[in-house]
Amino acid sequence: MKVNLSQLLFTALTLLIFTQICAAAEMPAVTNDYYIQQEKLPVPEWLRCPLMYCRDGVLGKKHGWCTKLVEQVAENNGNLLRASVMWGGRAHYQSKVAPHTPGLKDVDNLKEAVETGDRLGVKILTYINPNCFFKDHPLFETCALHKSDGSIVKNGGYGKKDAVYVCPNNPAYRKFYKDVLTEIFTNYGAAGLYVDGLTPHVCFCEHCQAKYREMFGEDIPKKFEKLSQFCVLWEMSNEPKLVGDPADPDSKKYTAFLYKSLCEITELFTNTVKKANPEAVVVYHSWPKPDIIDLYSGTLSEIYIRKPWIHTLWKDGELASYASVFGMPIFQNVYLQHKTDAEARHKMYDALANGVFPDCWSWRGMKTVFGFIKDNAQYYDYATTEPVASIALVRGIHNDSAQKKIDLKTGFSLKKGHKNFLRIQERDPHGKIDLFCFRRDAKMPQDSEFKDINSGSSDNIIFVAAEDFVDNLSRVKIRDTKWIRKEEKDTLTGKCVYSTGHANAINKPISKLVYRLPRIKDSSDGWSLWVRVLMPNSGSDSFFWSLSTDAGRNWIPDKATQDSAVGWKINPKWMWLKATSLSAASPKRPRFLAPYAGMYSAILRSGLPVVTLHKGDFHKRLSNVNVLCLANEAWMNDEQIDAVRKFVAAGGGLIATHETSLYDSEANRRSDFGLADVFGVKLERMTDWANREIHITKKCNVTNGFNDSTKIPYDESSLIVKPTSAKVAANLYGKGFDEKGIPAIVTHTFGKGRVVYMPVRLDSIQCEKLNPQVEQLFANAVEWVSAGKIAARVKASAPVAISVSQQPGRRIIHLVNHNAPTIESYDKIEDIENVKVQTLLPAGQKPVSIKRLKDKSKINYTVDGDHIAIDVGKIGEYEAIAIELAPK
Ligand SMILES: [Zn+2]
Repeated sequence: MKVNLSQLLFTALTLLIFTQICAAAEMPAVTNDYYIQQEKLPVPEWLRCPLMYCRDGVLGKKHGWCTKLVEQVAENNGNLLRASVMWGGRAHYQSKVAPHTPGLKDVDNLKEAVETGDRLGVKILTYINPNCFFKDHPLFETCALHKSDGSIVKNGGYGKKDAVYVCPNNPAYRKFYKDVLTEIFTNYGAAGLYVDGLTPHVCFCEHCQAKYREMFGEDIPKKFEKLSQFCVLWEMSNEPKLVGDPADPDSKKYTAFLYKSLCEITELFTNTVKKANPEAVVVYHSWPKPDIIDLYSGTLSEIYIRKPWIHTLWKDGELASYASVFGMPIFQNVYLQHKTDAEARHKMYDALANGVFPDCWSWRGMKTVFGFIKDNAQYYDYATTEPVASIALVRGIHNDSAQKKIDLKTGFSLKKGHKNFLRIQERDPHGKIDLFCFRRDAKMPQDSEFKDINSGSSDNIIFVAAEDFVDNLSRVKIRDTKWIRKEEKDTLTGKCVYSTGHANAINKPISKLVYRLPRIKDSSDGWSLWVRVLMPNSGSDSFFWSLSTDAGRNWIPDKATQDSAVGWKINPKWMWLKATSLSAASPKRPRFLAPYAGMYSAILRSGLPVVTLHKGDFHKRLSNVNVLCLANEAWMNDEQIDAVRKFVAAGGGLIATHETSLYDSEANRRSDFGLADVFGVKLERMTDWANREIHITKKCNVTNGFNDSTKIPYDESSLIVKPTSAKVAANLYGKGFDEKGIPAIVTHTFGKGRVVYMPVRLDSIQCEKLNPQVEQLFANAVEWVSAGKIAARVKASAPVAISVSQQPGRRIIHLVNHNAPTIESYDKIEDIENVKVQTLLPAGQKPVSIKRLKDKSKINYTVDGDHIAIDVGKIGEYEAIAIELAPK
């Protein structure tokens, strides 16, 4: 495959971490432009519109069992069966090179399946999971993972007592699977291989050590031993995710080593199959990575992620959209939550509408949906179909290592040495303080810990008694404010302190207590402060804290603010309270993924087409995007920021929320947003969370449909920003702000593009509580920033998800009916009447004919320039509208 400039750029930037450290080591060359959808991998005819049914576990142990299974697949309109032939190194067929499943006797499931499939037109995809060996496997001891002390890991693979993960760098492992695959694809007529769980592991065996030494001239650092076994399983990821701490150079080397191991075994698997039968396909469960994409014929997505999803009705469609970025056929497991036929059909249509092929695990809904697809296969043909990415939303599938580090860093830093000071100032009188606790984990202190740590501190936990303030640095008495030291029962230290005074204005305390922290061994971040307090009523429930790391020369924050207040909890008993830090972390909802899930639902439920892009490479996929949405994408690298800036300057629309671009890829906080100029604001600080309200401030396109009396309930944290060139469209009012409030929504123009930036977390709230006002605001924002370039929209009396795909000379509009409970079980999707669709055709095209694929009734439409208004009428569970196009 030829290498072009963009591919080189991709290598240089996305995999910067590897190229930096692998100068001396042999690196697999990145050869694929995988992120450009148009370059599709060639696949055989039968894989262009596959209708797959899956059966895992041991197949039958009786003659005729597999024959019956294949017959059922055919009866339910399937044309592909994924059948398990090996797990844990045991064959479910008559292998001559692998041990058999106990009780298999002379049954040959694979032979039966292939023979029946040949008769009924059902292809067989043989499933193996090579990640484990059962403990009775002859190669178990040889191939088991090794600890750094040379002992073998005997804990259960996939939680099974009798199976253990094995090391794919072991030559005996490689020979075993080479023999197995050669046997299957020489002796049986299976159409292809499906490989689950192919992954390297944290392993210190001689073969892993030798490979690491060959790459880097040193042993594998022992510190990686504490990583979890699953940290390497890059399953639903399009790139090797960094393993370990992003700031540790060894993490980058170790990740490169694991990636190289993965590339080698993937190559071995594909090459072995292809050598035995060049026609056979190889589908991998884990998503393709740049260096191995050519070894794939397809991949699969499945949902086992619960957080932050609360409303699950559109979750399958969302995942399908996230998966359908690879130039290969993609299957999606249809797992049923409510176990109804309606749910099964809904999930299948939702997957199909978003560019992937539903993969059935039960017979529910299969005959109906597969029957429809079979009759309309040309409209879903992988080889000729592209999703249209008009509105794109960026996400990662889990919190990545940088996000986790940002969360951790949300605490504060302490410097090496003895210059770390704590300052306490009065806010309300009579709240009693017993003890302070600084700590580096997220845990609440336990009273017993104080007793256990005799000296009052360890490396990661520091206790400071409230009575131990430094008299000559403190200002204990001024006017009527006085700090009292007093003996007190139920304290851990025997004494407490409290103030008699009240901060005379909200941010103007006059007294102070200053504490010297014990000597700190090494500078470190991620510290939090806890206080053991007794706050009997709302008049005595708060005080301010600040911190200095230079012996009191500078204090953070320099003035007492709500950010640095402890309290607002009343409890007549002693309790541990966490001091709010300089943080935007939401205590209520997941910080990074809840905004994403909320924004997705707001756009979808507004009848606008949204696709998801991957965090790692979204900035390289913007060429066909009109509107880019960044839902609290807190960290962005400089290249991404630059790409977004250029995208907007050239006329793209941008919607961004909260901390977007505030951190770099190593989780370091920038002095201001990386995109501050694009947003037209400057960051001032973060706020705590409280129950507040958003009020519409200004009549503009983004606030269409709202008026001055609109109040949107708000219970999240926010950022306080100052507009530099942006205009404020809505304000946040409430606790801690003056009567003017703070900006909640701003609009801006940057170059030729339009921007809506929201320092608030309305998207995060929407993840939990669906709110028509929030949906309307996001829909308005999308419409305004798009400057009229959205590919399609749907208007209906109930939520309809719209998505758009394209084929040469044809546009297809998918409508998935979401008129059903979003959380609870359902056994019917209610019809929706009077559905209207608008679509913007590609330039220079005109419609020749328009038809409904499901309900074949006639369709009325009017053409106005490049726009078509389609009167769809009533829709059932799903409808697809095919528009045949011709040049004008
Ligand atoms: Zn190993």
